Amino acid sequence: MTIQTDLPRTKQAELLAKVPTGLFIGGEWRQTEKTIDVFDPSTGAVLASISDASAADATAALDAAVAVQDDWAATAPRTRSNILRKAFDLMQERRDEFALLMTLEMGKPLAESNGEVTYGGEFLRWFSEEAVRITGRYGTSPEGTGRMIVSQHPVGPCYLITPWNFPLAMATRKIAPALAAGCTVIIKPASLTPLTTLYFAKLLEEAGVPAGVVNVLTTSSSSAVTEPLLDDPRLRKLSFTGSTPVGQKLIQQSAKNVLRTSMELGGNAPFVVFEDANLDAAVDGAIAAKFRNIGQACTAANRFIVHASIADEFARRVTDRVTAFSIGRGTEEGVTIGPLIDDRAVKKAGELVDDAVAKGATLLTGGKAVDREGTFYEPTVITDVRQGSNILREEIFGPVLAIVPFTDEADAIRLANDTEYGLVSYVFTQDLARGQRMIDKLQTGMMGLNVGVISNAAAPFGGVKQSGVGREGGLEGIHEYLSTKYTMTPAT
Ligand code: NAP
Repeated sequence: MTIQTDLPRTKQAELLAKVPTGLFIGGEWRQTEKTIDVFDPSTGAVLASISDASAADATAALDAAVAVQDDWAATAPRTRSNILRKAFDLMQERRDEFALLMTLEMGKPLAESNGEVTYGGEFLRWFSEEAVRITGRYGTSPEGTGRMIVSQHPVGPCYLITPWNFPLAMATRKIAPALAAGCTVIIKPASLTPLTTLYFAKLLEEAGVPAGVVNVLTTSSSSAVTEPLLDDPRLRKLSFTGSTPVGQKLIQQSAKNVLRTSMELGGNAPFVVFEDANLDAAVDGAIAAKFRNIGQACTAANRFIVHASIADEFARRVTDRVTAFSIGRGTEEGVTIGPLIDDRAVKKAGELVDDAVAKGATLLTGGKAVDREGTFYEPTVITDVRQGSNILREEIFGPVLAIVPFTDEADAIRLANDTEYGLVSYVFTQDLARGQRMIDKLQTGMMGLNVGVISNAAAPFGGVKQSGVGREGGLEGIHEYLSTKYTMTPAT
């Protein structure tokens, strides 16, 4: 494991100077007196100070979104499509800037931020294509007495809340389908990583999004800003990506106005390796599924359930790969592991590893915070993790790979499903029939069968059980922002 030194930062300062720091409401950038500092997790340095919205600003943003909702809904689908396509093109031109900005505020290595620009940008292109394909049905009632028309309409003003771990993709995955469907939006990014959303809002302005269609609230008091919005009957939809406990609270708050809700919540992904797996592919998949985003992904493999006959070999191979990682600031050439988002995340990773080891797991590498500035935790592998260890129940959200051996297929299925979460599972087997059984038996909304990365704008992303409701992306994604109307007319 090598530890890199830091790099000069002129380019970074030039980029930060271009990022707006105000709230974006009704097409205007508004500064507030109170501000929030945004930090670089690799150094602890302040990157920018941005506006801090109050409850009154939230209502102003909703006023702006409501004022233009009808006009935006009536805008030709082709026009909405062209604007999203223009946004996609601008994103490609500025991909280096968006990648650097994400690395600065969130910490992931630049190569991964570049990957997120590709992934996040694709939602703009995909939904620019879907905007012109919103269709309905027309038919005769079975009795022949009437004609039945089924049409799709924008849900109305939407409130979008995003987490810090994928600052761009979580925003585009919501904004693009909402705009394609004809909805206006207010977006509230995480207070830890708001800069990417602010810079993206500026891009949307340039792409031709009319004033008021997209509004941005940054705030240090999420609940104070959210409550008046969810209380206001003019808001029609909440789309949230974040932790399950916050999602549960927001579902309760959404009950008052019976809001449409989409919930992309936490995960506890099983990664099952059968004895007949191609071990090279399984190890590659494991490294990608575990260490992408420094382990801070809802799709991160949390529990490696590996057949006992190959568990030692699997553990040895992943440990060899992990000890070759390079830890450092995400802007540095060759770095593969950046910092965790904050001190709390480092503490949590440490506590989960300590608990597992105290209960009988074996530590193969890593296992402690890195002694340097910033919030780094060593990439870690533990094996023989015992049932009852907290790491098998909780979302790790850090670079810790935990192996649990199993002996037969039924046991693997039971272990994999033994969680209240159900976002994604990964299965490695060369037996086609077994793979198909796993599709039926594993209780998750998504599965990687012999692959470690599944996210794609063309696919319906989402979970079952406490991992959420609704789907983002794919053909399904736009329907989260449309409501179905059925009209009966006489037969003649
Ligand atoms: P979080 O603490 O739930 O925060 C998510 C967002 O909710 C942030 O914008 C946060 O704002 C806001 N928030 C927090 N409390 C709120 C409240 N009472 N009212 C309104 N908004 C509130 O989650 P996180 O730590 O940012 O993100 C990590 C979690 O997201 C993990 O559980 C991960 O699995 C999940 N995630 C899920 C998906 C998916 O698609 N299923 C994708 C990515 C991440 P502040 O930042 O201001 O607190």
